[in-house]
Amino acid sequence: MIPAVTLNSGAKMPIVGLGTWRADDGKVTEAVKVAISSGYRHIDGAYVYQNEKEVGVGIRAMIDQGVVKREDLFIVSKLWCTFHLPSLVRGACEKTLSDLKLDFLDLYLMHFPMGIEPGDNIFPTDEHGQVIPDGSDFLDTWEAMEKLVDAGLVKAIGVSNFNKDQMEALLNKPGLKYKPANNQIECHPYLTQEKLINYCHSKGISVTAYGPLGSPDRPWASSDEPSLLEEPQIQTIATKYNKTPAQVLIRFHVQRNVIVTAKSATPHRIKENFQLFDFELSEEDMKTILSLNKNMRGFSMSWASKHKDFPLNTEY
Ligand code: NDP
Repeated sequence: MIPAVTLNSGAKMPIVGLGTWRADDGKVTEAVKVAISSGYRHIDGAYVYQNEKEVGVGIRAMIDQGVVKREDLFIVSKLWCTFHLPSLVRGACEKTLSDLKLDFLDLYLMHFPMGIEPGDNIFPTDEHGQVIPDGSDFLDTWEAMEKLVDAGLVKAIGVSNFNKDQMEALLNKPGLKYKPANNQIECHPYLTQEKLINYCHSKGISVTAYGPLGSPDRPWASSDEPSLLEEPQIQTIATKYNKTPAQVLIRFHVQRNVIVTAKSATPHRIKENFQLFDFELSEEDMKTILSLNKNMRGFSMSWASKHKDFPLNTEY
């Protein structure tokens, strides 16, 4: 059994998932198949990754071949920002379900707190490169997401890229029906997120770490930024356990009871990134890894820095 985190909905979410951002058409179907064949049961996707049809083909193939049953899988997707107006939420979810060829999602996340202008353009921007807000209130978007649970389209709902104040606003929402089950945030040894994780955990909200390897494939990554995979202290720890730096970087979250989703479209790396349950980092090594924190973000979301719901203006 793969270790899992129990959500406040009662569902068990496998602690390691396969990320699918920037997993290209033609590669992502195979990546999903390799992952499920290697033991992964949790797949992390999103409408905005524009590859949900290919992800769905991989999932369907594994179910049809009897490798896995639907109920053994934990499928996550995310509501894109151009669908925050309450009238658009259900259609967005149905589009994701039809692309994935699934009847329900295990977890549906509000991808960002910021709602942006609806339309065919997924990133409508003004002359300053800032996204154009849709005027929505994420509390209303949340209420529309609660209806997806009641309609049986999703088993649980959560958020992503929410700061503590935004989490609090949600928890204090008058008439709140479902608490968020999860907050998916950037997290790795250069951005350890201790305060936000502690806050979420104290409220019974699970946390998922994205970008656990430092997201080296980000189109805007700069060539002179420090590389987590090449970080000497991570390499030393990896050698000690006869593991790779990637395995140490992913295992780090497991030991904090943080769910983690690493992306690879390379079969041998997909397998490598799941070989995590035959070793344990010592307390001292966990402390060393935590001490690498520099509050360094790979995802500064500068495209939304003027949005009223931009999440990175507060300490955490
Ligand atoms: P990761 O930190 O997972 O890094 C992915 C990169 O690392 C890819 O270039 C991959 O290459 C490479 N890689 C994977 N495994 C290894 C390995 N064992 N050794 C060396 N290199 C490796 O970055 P992501 O940004 O993709 O984050 C993971 C997932 O989190 C996303 O795919 C997505 O599902 C989610 N996410 C969510 C966000 C949100 O706003 N909620 C934002 C960003 C990500 P290759 O594929 O070529 O093997």
